[in-house]
Amino acid sequence: MKPLTRPPLVDPFGRKISYLRISVTDRCDFRCVYCMAENMQFLPRKELLTLEELDRIATAFVARGTRKLRLTGGEPLVRRDIMSLFRSLSRHLTSGALDELTLTTNGSLLSRYADELAGYGVRRINVSLDTLDADKFREITRRGDLKVVLAGIEAARKAGMRVKINAVALKGVNDDEIEELMLWSHGLGMDLTLIEVMPMGEIEVGRIDQYLPLSVVRGRLMDKYTLVDDPYRTGGPARYVRVKETGGLVGFITPLTHNFCESCNRVRLTCTGTLYMCLGQEDAADLRAAVRSSQDDALLYRAMDEAIARKPKGHDFIIDRRHSRPAVGRHMSVTGG
Ligand code: SAM
Ligand code: SF4
Repeated sequence: MKPLTRPPLVDPFGRKISYLRISVTDRCDFRCVYCMAENMQFLPRKELLTLEELDRIATAFVARGTRKLRLTGGEPLVRRDIMSLFRSLSRHLTSGALDELTLTTNGSLLSRYADELAGYGVRRINVSLDTLDADKFREITRRGDLKVVLAGIEAARKAGMRVKINAVALKGVNDDEIEELMLWSHGLGMDLTLIEVMPMGEIEVGRIDQYLPLSVVRGRLMDKYTLVDDPYRTGGPARYVRVKETGGLVGFITPLTHNFCESCNRVRLTCTGTLYMCLGQEDAADLRAAVRSSQDDALLYRAMDEAIARKPKGHDFIIDRRHSRPAVGRHMSVTGG
């Protein structure tokens, strides 16, 4: 591990910031029902950080102790010339300053980019997939083609990357399919993470209609399978079990029913340079101003320090059962999950 040349970023609760997620675009080629409205207003392009500015901020975080970078969105692979950002960030893998460069994707463009990503040192990726039924897939994503995504997953595996499947558990939509998703994922050597729907951004469908507690899903799996708690941790809210019969892992992300903030090691940067210190809180810091007002990184480092000093102890997501209003007004596609 390469020694740091600058002091590490540590928040007031002693948590070391070692993981930066960057939403490189708010745009997407899908409109998943739990994530976006049908007619989303996207940001004007001029508001976005350039790929060079994104690299500069990511590099400043790496210099202060970030060991893992995840590019997300929106759909990260729809951003024009995104491969050049992966290419430039891969220098931190080569130097030993970074352990992992990765992305979360809907998979629609993986067939095109898998080989290149693997070439830039991306070893593991998360692909979001909520169903294996083509019609249901089209309904959930409003415009996705399951065949294309499955081919993308295949391309990623062929390129030598490990794939983890992320599925949002949706009541009355895919709750009858979780076991099938698990058997399919594990059959191909991929772990599966299940996510509880989170109250973010105004969308047309009521959240309470979609909300399916993962405790219910877990209980149903336990009727048929042996689930053994697994120590695997990413510093995030996921908790894992090993399924004895398949040998694979199932992760549960349950922000609404549990609070795992004490080990939180991450912050999130949006494509406009806003840094969110917590997915479930509104407080944010503007790093774009710091980057644009000076070529020297001193202002940027100061803005980062001020931001991390305000990282809250935890989130307070609640689905308001009477009003079903989101606890956080921004969409997941802004901060990338
Ligand atoms: N477009 C990429 C994708 O779908 O993987 C990356 C961005 S997407 C916002 C990241 C993850 O957030 C996906 O796994 C998606 O299912 C999840 N997500 C989006 N909206 C959500 C919500 N309201 N509650 C829970 N998960 C959500
Ligand atoms: Fe796009 Fe991902 Fe949101 Fe679906 S979950 S609309 S693929 S950003």
